[in-house]
Amino acid sequence: MSKAVTRAAWLMIALAVITTAVHALVNDSDLNRIIYLIASAQVVVALIIGIVVNHPDRRVWPALLLLISCLLSAQLIDGRSSASNTSHITAETLFLMVQLILIAGLIFTVQRRLGGDAISVVADSLIISLGAWFIIWFAFINPAREISQEIFAITALRGATLAASAIVVFMLATLLLGDAERTPAVWLATSAITFSLLGDLFYATNQSARLMISESVANAPYITSLFLVSATLLHPSVRTLASHVATRQRQPLLGRLVLTTSALVIPVVVLAMTDPTNDVDRLVRTISIFVLAIAVTARVVFSVRASSLLQQSLIISAQTDALTGLPNRGLMLEHVSAALNNALYEGRTPTALFIDVDRFKNINDSLGHSAGDDVLIAVAQRLRVALHDNCVVGRISGDEFVVLDSATKTASEAVLLADRVLESFHEPLSLRQGDVFVSASIGVAVFRPGVTSSADDLLRHADTAMYRAKDAGRNCVAIFDESMLERVNQRLAVETALYRALERRELRLVHQPIIDIDLGDVIGFEALMRWDMEDGTNVSPAEFIPIAEETGIIVPIGAWALLQALTHLRGWINEGICRLDATMSVNVSPRQLHDPNFVAVVNEALMRSHMPAEQLWLEVTEGVMITQPEQALDTLRKLSALGVRIAIDDFGTGYSSLSFLQRFPIHRLKIDKTFINGLATDTSARSLVKTIIAMADSLGLDVVAEGVETVQQLHALADLQCSKAQGYLISYPVTPETMASTVAGLDEIGKWPRLRPLN
Ligand code: C2E
Ligand code: MG
Ligand code: MG
Repeated sequence: MSKAVTRAAWLMIALAVITTAVHALVNDSDLNRIIYLIASAQVVVALIIGIVVNHPDRRVWPALLLLISCLLSAQLIDGRSSASNTSHITAETLFLMVQLILIAGLIFTVQRRLGGDAISVVADSLIISLGAWFIIWFAFINPAREISQEIFAITALRGATLAASAIVVFMLATLLLGDAERTPAVWLATSAITFSLLGDLFYATNQSARLMISESVANAPYITSLFLVSATLLHPSVRTLASHVATRQRQPLLGRLVLTTSALVIPVVVLAMTDPTNDVDRLVRTISIFVLAIAVTARVVFSVRASSLLQQSLIISAQTDALTGLPNRGLMLEHVSAALNNALYEGRTPTALFIDVDRFKNINDSLGHSAGDDVLIAVAQRLRVALHDNCVVGRISGDEFVVLDSATKTASEAVLLADRVLESFHEPLSLRQGDVFVSASIGVAVFRPGVTSSADDLLRHADTAMYRAKDAGRNCVAIFDESMLERVNQRLAVETALYRALERRELRLVHQPIIDIDLGDVIGFEALMRWDMEDGTNVSPAEFIPIAEETGIIVPIGAWALLQALTHLRGWINEGICRLDATMSVNVSPRQLHDPNFVAVVNEALMRSHMPAEQLWLEVTEGVMITQPEQALDTLRKLSALGVRIAIDDFGTGYSSLSFLQRFPIHRLKIDKTFINGLATDTSARSLVKTIIAMADSLGLDVVAEGVETVQQLHALADLQCSKAQGYLISYPVTPETMASTVAGLDEIGKWPRLRPLN
């Protein structure tokens, strides 16, 4: 059906061309009247079909009905040869109504399709119509008045109609220039109106007697217009004629400006260059220019007001955080700056609190981002309520808030303020999702002349202190002092140097043997990273591994360590330094496990070192089972499927639950050295180790005791049937080059089995 009406729409265009040509070329008034009747009748038929098939917007079709009936009856009345003055007035009124309906319809369409700026479009149309009216008066109506003695009402009506046509033209231009999606219906409707306006122009030209156009030619555009109206009604795209579309990126502002300026300039030029022909002309000119001036003034005032309002709202939105409505970083800096400027002569020491919501990422990950947003809104609200009115609260980014109190006089007042904020989180936040407890880490920085030189400084210091609060275990307050800056700088230096450590070959691996307690054999090694900085300082892994982890450098460094460690083991096996089935344990950080390439990296290291997967142990900490466990589980399963085995390092220091141990593909527990430490002396440590070993046994897991430093500890382990151990007692971590002598030394002593008698 819709295909058929689309075809019918295109057929209407063909008919429009043919009938218009016949009408214009054949100067036979009878034939032309018949063509006119056919054209009028088909519009009515198309209107009915269009409404039934295309279901245009309900608000549109009554207007269309009215429009077409006005147009047709006006043409009929006007077309009668015996038309009297009264019927002329009726016809002109109907023509004017047609234009007014068109204007109303176009305003509605422009508003619906392009949205927004409707008032200024209407104001511009008004100016243009006034300008057009002036030209029409000057070019057509005034001369026509002098030629025929028609009554003034007709002339005035015609002038108004033509001025309205100018608005129609302008609105059409706005619609076409501003529309990103010009459907066939938009084009067809625009063409129909344009042709009808062309007809009006020919008619007016004839009336003014400036140029005579034959009636068959003058009326031809109306015929085209009627067929195009039918084409519009029949085309299925008429359905969306009044629906909103994407507007063009660049609004046709320039075009509008040119049009409105010409509407102003042309009347002024005409006024300057011509003299009024009579008193009526003088009066009309004066009134027209006066009204035009008022319209322009109103438009300018409106524009200026609108743009200043816009500017104001832009400034506000640029300085406010959209989520919480609090001042953003920029505005907070301005507030701090102002407070610092006044501080000196007011004898005050403004304080900045840097507040970071603890574990906010966990809230986002577990409850979803909209709950995360709700938490931030609730935190903002809490802060507003908890603090007195002199404090300014702002949101700097993500989960970071800043409080500025410009009135504090001493550091203890600042601490009290921070405590009040900390306390305000003791009550849970009530969200739509239910109650949520949050805590915050707070850094406090108090203005000190000489130390704080700018607003940026004060916030940075508070931020540094906040990190110290986080390090101290979160949910607490830390006060900035200068030593913190040194630490930050030092850390920054380590971070920068670490980026280049790998390519400068400053990293190396040492290895610590792992022995079988029963046999006394070296059954494997753990690879441990060492970093010798350019200037000779040794940075401990406990310091640089967390930084590497945080910055992500651990990913390339870890890949290097993996290949290096396996290559070492391959070398030792080939040289007969260790057993053929000796294993290599490599430490792996959570960040590496979350790297999508990690399985491929392990695979490649195994292939390049020609080591079977079964001889590689990867040591992970309990933490990986807690943060993002699904992703870690997926990676560990893939690795396990390759044949690689997984050990839980530092077991007992984290929070792993039995269910995690069962779910994860784990093959070994490494009992942390803190438990081994007290093994020989402390009975509770001993029973803990015993429990861990029993649990590992029942889960079918291998056990290694870490950090064995004394013979007593080793005896105790042997007692508890712990099968494997590593520690300084057996060997310190050694360089690959000294591994041969280390292993030989251990074999030679062969003392471990002889420890058994105690058993
Ligand atoms: P870890 O994996 O638990 O390694 C054991 C740590 O205990 C090593 O410290 C080792 O030198 C030390 N150790 C061995 N025997 C004894 C002993 O009898 N007594 C005492 N007190 N300590 C002993 P190290 O080499 O300083 O490494 C510290 C941590 O840094 C490692 O703990 C591991 O978590 C991490 N790490 C080291 N190398 C790497 C690496 O290549 N990648 C990753 N991701 N982490 C690494
Ligand atoms: Mg380890
Ligand atoms: Mg360990």
